[in-house]
Amino acid sequence: MKTSKNMNNQQIAQLLKAVSAALLVKGENQFRVQAYDRAAVAIEHATSEVKDLWDDGQLTSLPGVGASIAQHLDELFRTGRVKHFEEIFKGLPEAMFELIQIPGIGPKSAYKLCKALGITKARNAIKKLEKAAKDGEVRKIEGFGEESERDILQNIAEFHRRENRMLLSFAENLAQKIAAYLKKEPAVLRVEPLGSLRRRCATIGDLDLAVATNQPEKVVDHFLRFPQVKQVLNKGSRKASVVLFNGRQVDLRVQEEASFGALLQYFTGSKQHNIALRTLAQKRHLSLSEYGIKKVNGKEKLFRFKTEKAFYNFLGLDWIPPELREDTGEIEAAQKHQLPQLVTPEDIKGDLHIHSDFDVETSHDLGQDGLEKILSVAADLGYEYIAIADHTPSTSQHTSQQIIDLLKRRREYYEQIIYSREKSENKRTIKVFISLEIDILPDGRLAIPEKAFDYLDFAIVSVHSSFRLSRQKMTHRVLTALAAHPKIKILGHPTGRLLNEREGYELDWEALFDLCQKKEKFLEVNAWPNRLDLPDTLVREAVKNGVKLVINTDSHAADQLRVMPYGVYTARRGWAEKKDILNTLSLAELEKKLGV
Ligand SMILES: [Zn+2]
Ligand SMILES: [Zn+2]
Repeated sequence: MKTSKNMNNQQIAQLLKAVSAALLVKGENQFRVQAYDRAAVAIEHATSEVKDLWDDGQLTSLPGVGASIAQHLDELFRTGRVKHFEEIFKGLPEAMFELIQIPGIGPKSAYKLCKALGITKARNAIKKLEKAAKDGEVRKIEGFGEESERDILQNIAEFHRRENRMLLSFAENLAQKIAAYLKKEPAVLRVEPLGSLRRRCATIGDLDLAVATNQPEKVVDHFLRFPQVKQVLNKGSRKASVVLFNGRQVDLRVQEEASFGALLQYFTGSKQHNIALRTLAQKRHLSLSEYGIKKVNGKEKLFRFKTEKAFYNFLGLDWIPPELREDTGEIEAAQKHQLPQLVTPEDIKGDLHIHSDFDVETSHDLGQDGLEKILSVAADLGYEYIAIADHTPSTSQHTSQQIIDLLKRRREYYEQIIYSREKSENKRTIKVFISLEIDILPDGRLAIPEKAFDYLDFAIVSVHSSFRLSRQKMTHRVLTALAAHPKIKILGHPTGRLLNEREGYELDWEALFDLCQKKEKFLEVNAWPNRLDLPDTLVREAVKNGVKLVINTDSHAADQLRVMPYGVYTARRGWAEKKDILNTLSLAELEKKLGV
């Protein structure tokens, strides 16, 4: 693996995954392997560049990055190399670290494929594997068959499709940094994101920003001096494109204040929305551009718009929130003044899916922080309530009775903390629900015995394994679990997708919506930046079908409670209103709904 002093988060995550893979292939103990995996995931989802954190001496503030990995990263940023890693990589083909990027190819398969096909170098490794699979060479390798050969081809195609897209959280953070820099120039009057970032899509390609100014050239020059700029791709009097050191492309558009509304509208898109808008304008003999609106056959007068609202109003439309601009009925709704009153981050009154550090002896990840720390962040966010939803104890390591005892002990532990906190503190207390995120086993059974529900206020059920069942089996599995107990209220991350990693599973959504409606179950919009699950399109379907949703962060550390807005944006993209979201209710209303 090539390393350097200037690796971005994606490259560092890839490096740590390679270390984990090498350790696994060499038969190292699983805790070391997992530590590297966990650090890789944390870095992939970090909202800041790891190198910046290192600069500030904040490396270990990243959950999952312990002292020893931090030390290796320190060596990397200082010298561009990590001797310990080089030692670990010795004797393994470089190509295998390329192949593990393909979904479905684990370290051991990657190693086997490299050995059997004679692929050694990193360069073109994926291409060579693709060719071998197309030529039917993979099926001849022991342990692989026609089916896995087909899977490999499919997964390579998927890999190419999603390469290089940033998670929304990362893109937003990067945009804010650039915006803060731009605002140092007094000529900059306003900075706004454009394109998919402004529409809050789940993943973002290039970053597009707009600036309102009356001195365009001054602003362009200032932009080009941004310290992170590695290369200037092009520069005009009103626009410029650059590549940053982290490999991301940023495009800037600059416009006078008087026409800024038109620019914002034009470059926010989406393409489909703008096409539909143009069609509507044409019927009225108007033409739209980034500068404003012109009458087609009249005099060449250009109507200019300082705000987007004025632009839309000129066309006889209400202002359309960027999240809705996908040409899926928003223009008609804006004409009839029937746009939804979208839910906002301020509407959220609590978070019902938080993992704590109580050791439930699970095979999944524990949370990193205790209840006290979680409550202090919740207070900071102004919440009325939270729910601790740890994972279930592992079923292979415990008897039913042990699971019941463990969950009983857990309840007593929390009740004690809550009790002493309420006694000792005068400040506003936040209601804590004791919940659990129960694994749905492949056959639809739950990972805890019925008796264990006595120690829960309510429960979430989630799929964490066997993602590749048929649609019919998966539907049966999820529906059975959701209906298994009256205390089960929420289906966690309902599609199981991981952005940039894994597609969601197949499911009969109509049947699920039906069950949710009849039995008053809630579908989660998981706000975790690489989940955003339910996806926006399914949020829309759920809302149309009268299904209620709950927006949760699935935090594994107290500070992660702050990712809530990404879930809200996803819900907004699915046209969800406050009334559609369970955790916009006051505590009293919520307790009634949950029956606790
Ligand atoms: Zn989960
Ligand atoms: Zn969870």
